[in-house]
Amino acid sequence: MSNPKDPRSPPPSPSTSIDEAALARALHGGELTYYYQPKISLINGKICGSEALMRWVRPDGEVILPCNFIPLAESSGFITQLSLGMFPRLVEDLLIIHDYRDEISTSFNLSAQDFRDSAMVDAIRDAITHHQLDPARLEVELTEDSVLHWDNPELRENLRSLVELGVSLGMDDYGTGYASIDTLSQWPFDCVKLDQGLIRRMSGSEKATTIVQASIRMAHQLGMRIVAEGIETSALYDFLLNSGCTHAQGFWLASPLPLEQYLAILGKDQRWSGLPTGLIHMATLDHIHWRQALIAEVIAIAFKGETRDQPIRTHTPELDPHKCRLGRWYYGPGQEFRDHPLFAELETPHFRLHELGEQLLEAANRGIPRNELVGLLRQLTRQSAIVLELLQELESEALLDHLHMAHHAPEPLHERGH
Ligand code: C2E
Ligand code: MG
Ligand code: MG
Repeated sequence: MSNPKDPRSPPPSPSTSIDEAALARALHGGELTYYYQPKISLINGKICGSEALMRWVRPDGEVILPCNFIPLAESSGFITQLSLGMFPRLVEDLLIIHDYRDEISTSFNLSAQDFRDSAMVDAIRDAITHHQLDPARLEVELTEDSVLHWDNPELRENLRSLVELGVSLGMDDYGTGYASIDTLSQWPFDCVKLDQGLIRRMSGSEKATTIVQASIRMAHQLGMRIVAEGIETSALYDFLLNSGCTHAQGFWLASPLPLEQYLAILGKDQRWSGLPTGLIHMATLDHIHWRQALIAEVIAIAFKGETRDQPIRTHTPELDPHKCRLGRWYYGPGQEFRDHPLFAELETPHFRLHELGEQLLEAANRGIPRNELVGLLRQLTRQSAIVLELLQELESEALLDHLHMAHHAPEPLHERGH
């Protein structure tokens, strides 16, 4: 028997049939609203924002889920009226949320059809201007399928305007459709949401696990945030924490909540357990890539003119130790480990490594004899080994700490009263 209060129950079907006219009445009659599902930062275990999810609350209290009306609205074209009609309601909620906690972000779902003309972007721009909403706290989620299906110059232009406003763009349900790494890189997405089906399949499929890990790695390399949806167990949560995922959302953490309940849990300042050990792993890989790119660049300079082939474009390694990926981790999310002695030990060898890198490039450009260049390259490799060893020790110690820590997760937060 399915329990209507258990969020894992199959979605109930509405008691009456739904057509466009009924949906239009619901919109104009104020029966549509938003619930907010918290998103947890895997860097500090705290709620960092939420996803606004539409709900149709009938006068008798019946709550109708979007799967019963969004596909209909999308196929009939009513979706643009729905999105525009609901936007003022969303803005009202956003103002309440921001008054309460201004650092909290909110994402909301739109359809690619909403960007066929500029009306939606204009509405978002007006809201930002008139209500002084911080665009950095707003994110639009679009599914990869809808983007590919509606791809045209207007869509591209309007998405570009959206991003120019400073609003984030998240690719929803990544891993379900046909979007490839290539698609991701051609659109201005700065966040990837791994599909919950893919996340769920990890329990029974090594391939799904590899796809998730590779997607996290790819998004990380492209500098994107990564949200895993559909976290239904502590095992999934731990796995993602150790894989370098940056954000998590799912029933195990919290289900979508009416605004008042969402505000109430924001006020509790809950914290989920865990150290972002996966991010140390990413920092290690980043360092290896940095070293590889630097050596490739030095060799390319030293051998310039000896080949007529067109060079492959690669990332030029960042020479500033605060700005390379390892540095950005160290002075950013890595600070979660600042009390660990190994963490403090990392800074000097990392600086020294960058000095050597700079010296090497300068020497290669000067055209120093090859045997001297090889000597410098050896020094760089030795210095890199010191950095790697410290990172690996830190990773294993943090993993052990994590295993020893009692798994202290707050009670999952579920919808009540419906
Ligand atoms: P989505 O954007 O991928 O949203 C996530 C969906 O997964 C939500 O379903 C959420 O309740 C559900 N979910 C969250 N955690 C878990 C979990 O741990 N396990 C499982 N099994 N499910 C989980 P919901 O609210 O029914 O929304 C379904 C879809 O409807 C959304 O998928 C989104 O594509 C669409 N949608 C929702 N609100 C809007 C809206 O305002 N506008 C548009 N255009 N689409 C919307
Ligand atoms: Mg979504
Ligand atoms: Mg999704």
